[in-house]
Amino acid sequence: ARAEEKERIVTDIDTGTTTELGLNDLTAQLDKAHVFHSWSAQGALKPLVIAGGLGCRVWDHDGRTYLDFSSQLVNVNIGHQHPAVIKGIIDQAQLLTTIAPSTANLARGEAAKRIVDRAPIGFNKVFFTNGGADANENAIRMARLHTGRDTVLSTYRSYHGNTGAAIVATGDWRRIPNEFARGHVHFFGPYLYRSEFWATTPEQETERALRHLERVIQSEGATSIAAVLLESIPGTAGVLMPPPGYLAGVRELCDRYGIMLILDEVMVGFGRTGRWFAFEGSGVVPDLITFAKGVNSGYVPVGGVIISDAIAADFDSTVFPGGLTYSGHPLAMASIVAALDAMTDEGIVENAARIGTDAIGPGLEALKAKHPIIGEVRGEGVFWAIELVADRETREPVAPAVMARIKTELLARNLLPFVQDNRIHVVPPCVVTDSEVAEALAIYDEVLALDLL
Ligand code: PLP
Repeated sequence: ARAEEKERIVTDIDTGTTTELGLNDLTAQLDKAHVFHSWSAQGALKPLVIAGGLGCRVWDHDGRTYLDFSSQLVNVNIGHQHPAVIKGIIDQAQLLTTIAPSTANLARGEAAKRIVDRAPIGFNKVFFTNGGADANENAIRMARLHTGRDTVLSTYRSYHGNTGAAIVATGDWRRIPNEFARGHVHFFGPYLYRSEFWATTPEQETERALRHLERVIQSEGATSIAAVLLESIPGTAGVLMPPPGYLAGVRELCDRYGIMLILDEVMVGFGRTGRWFAFEGSGVVPDLITFAKGVNSGYVPVGGVIISDAIAADFDSTVFPGGLTYSGHPLAMASIVAALDAMTDEGIVENAARIGTDAIGPGLEALKAKHPIIGEVRGEGVFWAIELVADRETREPVAPAVMARIKTELLARNLLPFVQDNRIHVVPPCVVTDSEVAEALAIYDEVLALDLL
C-alpha cells in the first residue's frame, strides 16, 4: 500500500503560476515554511520525508525504504501499521470519535482492564493522559497529595518529558529552568561504565549508589520527600541497565522513609525489554507506574498512570484535582485494546525477549569484538545501546562530528538509526525478525569499519 500519488500540481496563490512538484519536495517545502520542530534550531533543518510504513520499514513518496531501528522515538513496539490496530481505530471512529472523560465508555474500560491485567497485583485503576510527560506530572501530584510532602527526587541522566514538573525532574542536558516547578532534587543513579562512585563491580556500584541516595534523602530531610521518580531503565540517557539489587534497594529506602516510588515505564513498558514492564523480575513493586509509547505504539497519542490501591483509595471520597479534555480518548482507547490483544495473541513480547538474547545481544557483542570504537554494549529485548569511544582505555566519548557522520552513513544505507550523544541505540520494533536484525547488524558493521576517528 505505497502512496500511489507521486506528484501534485501546486499553484502559487500570489502569481497564479503552477508547478509540478514531487511529493517529497512538496512535503519538504511545506515543512520548511510552516512546521516548527522540537529541540532544534529551525534554520538548517532538513528532516527526512516519510510517507508510509509497514512493520519495521518506512518509506518516502518515491518509494525509498528505510529499515526503522529507532522505532521512531522508541515507541512503535508493535511495528508500523499493524492491521488489527488500524482496524480497532477505524471501528471505534465509526462508532464514536470523542467523548468527555467524565462519561463511562466501553473502550476506555476495556483499555484500563487490559493494562491492569498486565500490572502487578494491587494495581486496579488507570488515569489516562495524552502522553508520557503529563503521566509523570499527574503521578507526582498523586504522590504529593498522598504523602502531604513536596520534594521529588530524580536522577541526573534521566528523561521524564517536556512539561512543567516533568522537565524539571529530567536530569539530562534538557534541565530547563521552570519557575513554576518546585521541590525537585537530583541524585546520581548507577552507571558502572562511568561510575560516579569509583566502583569497579556491579555489587559496588549498587551499594554505593544506594548509600549516596540515602545520604541525599537524609540531607534533604526524609519527611519532606514525597517521591523518588525513576525510569526503571534510563532510556534516552543511554539504556543504563541498573545493576542487580539497585531497584530493590531503592524500594527498601522508600519504605524506610515513607517515600512513594514512581517508576517511569514510558519508554521501557509494554514489551520493549521482552517483558510487559521492565521492573518485572526485579521483585520490586512501585506505588505508581507511568506509561505511554508502547501501550499502543503511538498510533494515537496516549499515556497514563497506573495507581496502586493504597493511593487510589485516597480519592474515594476526596476529589482528585486534575483532568484533561482528552483523557481516555476513544480512539486512543480502542488502539490500546487492539494493540495489547495483538501483542498477546502474536507473542510479540516473547519475540522481543528471544531476539534480544539470540540475535541482537550476541550480534552487538560480535561487533564490539571487531570494532575498538565500541566501548560498551548494554541492553535486553529490543532495547540496546552501543557506546562509542575514541579510546577504550580512557573511555573518552567520540566527538559529536563522528556521531553526525555515523548517522549520515547509516541513513545512506537505508537504516533509520536512533543516535544520542556518543551512542547508537539499537531499538527496533518488538516484531523485528532475525533477518531484519542480520540486515541491520551488517549495516552497523559496514559503517563502524569506516575511518571515523
Ligand atoms: N518518560 C520517559 C522515560 C520517556 O522516554 C519520555 C519520552 O521520550 C517521556 C517520559 C515523555 O513522554 P512524551 O514525549 O510522550 O511526553
